[in-house]
Amino acid sequence: MSRGGPPDGRTYWKASATAWSLPPAEAPRRADVAVVGAGFTGLSAAYHLALAGASVAVFEAGEVGEGASGRNGGQVLPGYDRDYPELVERLGLARAQAMWRLSLSAIERMEAIMAREGIECGWEAYGHLEAATTAAQRDALARAGDALARDLQHPTRLLGPAEMEAAVGSPFYIAGLEFPAARAFHPLLYARGLAAAAARRGAVILQGRRVTAVHRRDGGYAVAWGEGRTSCREVIVATNAYVPPFAPWLRRRILPVTSTVVATAPLAPGYAARILPGRQTLSDLKTPMYYFRVTADARLVFGGGTGEEGRSLVRVFPYLEGTRIDYRWHGRVAVSADWLPHIGRTPEGWLYAAGYTGHGAAFSTEAGAMLAALALGEGTDDTATLGPFAALPFPPMALLGQHGRVARMVRAYLRLRERLAAYAHRPGG
Ligand SMILES: Cc1cc2nc3c(=O)[nH]c(=O)nc-3n(C[C@H](O)[C@H](O)[C@H](O)COP(=O)(O)OP(=O)(O)OC[C@H]3O[C@@H](n4cnc5c(N)ncnc54)[C@H](O)[C@@H]3O)c2cc1C
Repeated sequence: MSRGGPPDGRTYWKASATAWSLPPAEAPRRADVAVVGAGFTGLSAAYHLALAGASVAVFEAGEVGEGASGRNGGQVLPGYDRDYPELVERLGLARAQAMWRLSLSAIERMEAIMAREGIECGWEAYGHLEAATTAAQRDALARAGDALARDLQHPTRLLGPAEMEAAVGSPFYIAGLEFPAARAFHPLLYARGLAAAAARRGAVILQGRRVTAVHRRDGGYAVAWGEGRTSCREVIVATNAYVPPFAPWLRRRILPVTSTVVATAPLAPGYAARILPGRQTLSDLKTPMYYFRVTADARLVFGGGTGEEGRSLVRVFPYLEGTRIDYRWHGRVAVSADWLPHIGRTPEGWLYAAGYTGHGAAFSTEAGAMLAALALGEGTDDTATLGPFAALPFPPMALLGQHGRVARMVRAYLRLRERLAAYAHRPGG
């Protein structure tokens, strides 16, 4: 593996997307709804609002997809960070079932939007492997597969060591649970497609407009950006892990954790055929977690939580030692205290959805649709709209103010462990 590699920065997604622009737009003085953040959550909310005929303005500090939505691993997964049996244990059968069904609806909703709006984003339907390196993890996967079949008639398949080795192209994992419902995509193309669709439906999307404050005004709100103000009836804060300073209630509930991704140079045909030959995406249950997939142009896109991903991928695929890394970037994952997404209203009355805990590529589109319904006042009450997410406690996290330091310490510890593991696995080591 070439250790030097590119500096942190440009994502493979941006480099592989064609030139793109939105129609120029002026910030309106008034809109029914103002959305802060143009990731999947904010764009889905804007799209559904515009579709329903509401006037909506989206304010994005950077470009569309600047946050996690344009930087992720491109894995579109059913479920949540916590496995289904844990959801049943913590939340009860009915709520866990409803939550899991909503995660499947999210993927269907994305497919419906793509078909309706003609969004081309490299959508692939090869499924996902959740991978185990220990017997305890393998048993947990088996339990999850059984429970999903029993309670939701949801099909998964447990792979043993030999099948897993053939499916991954490495003996690194001893078992895996295959989720055929999972998808893969080019996340930035999806974000841009959603933005273009929302704009065509009448949403005003403003890039390079950082919101600095939200004030109460005339029974509604005024969103302050740069030198201007936009009045609105409802505000949606869709900033997930990039929580702005003006939203301290959310900042106390979201731990932003850095995740790094690398993309190799296109693999030699022999390796491209050997690694994930079924083209599933993969994530594992270790700490630190690895997640990876092979792109249509045969690059290995490999992510993790240590910043040592160049070394980590050689642990899984020793034969890739010496392979060039063409892209390296990072983004922020929003971890909540219970590792679940949360949707609702802040004490100020702003709508929010946040805390996807690294599992939001699919669910954020569903959450955006829920936010739109809440902003439109659809449903008899919030419970009807939010279903299993209604009244889900969203506790603040202890050690507030220490978050940055704690996250950095954890990452430094994981990085050290990763270096030692890579050292132990070096050829002849
Ligand atoms: C490296 C990485 C890999 C990941 N891989 C996967 C994966 O493979 N599968 C999966 O399911 N999930 C994955 N995730 C998580 C997933 O990408 C997120 O859950 C999802 O994109 C969240 O979307 P969002 O719209 O809520 O937030 P974001 O996409 O982060 O959007 C928030 C936006 O708010 C903007 N913003 C912030 N403050 C302001 C302000 N004051 N004014 C205006 N705009 C503002 C930001 O610029 C940003 O664009 C990954 C995340 C990361 C970081």
